[in-house]
Amino acid sequence: MKHVDSESPSDVAHWLRSESAILWPALLGSLSLRRSRCIRENCAACRSGEQHQSYVLYGRANGRRVAVYVPEELVPEVQRSLDNGRALQDLLHQAAPRYVKALKRARAGAAESDED
Ligand SMILES: [Zn+2]
Repeated sequence: MKHVDSESPSDVAHWLRSESAILWPALLGSLSLRRSRCIRENCAACRSGEQHQSYVLYGRANGRRVAVYVPEELVPEVQRSLDNGRALQDLLHQAAPRYVKALKRARAGAAESDED
């Protein structure tokens, strides 16, 4: 791969596509462990204050906050997708200055060749 200081916009686009290819599925949101009471009377877990733990995914859809229950056996898969989402977000942040620099470099190169 070319050095970062000499890459073209299409080099950056190619780099971005190949780096992000392994980051799917990618999700954004937060997974938290929630404790809640159940509806049973005289439940030992509720009486002791221990209560019942369950995972909830908090996300946003069309500007509204949503909470979705996540069964325990799906937690590793959901967590992996959330990790991918964060990695993808970091990648997009990294890509922005590189792409803009590459665009400026391409424009400067075109201007120089116009002067010839
Ligand atoms: Zn209970």
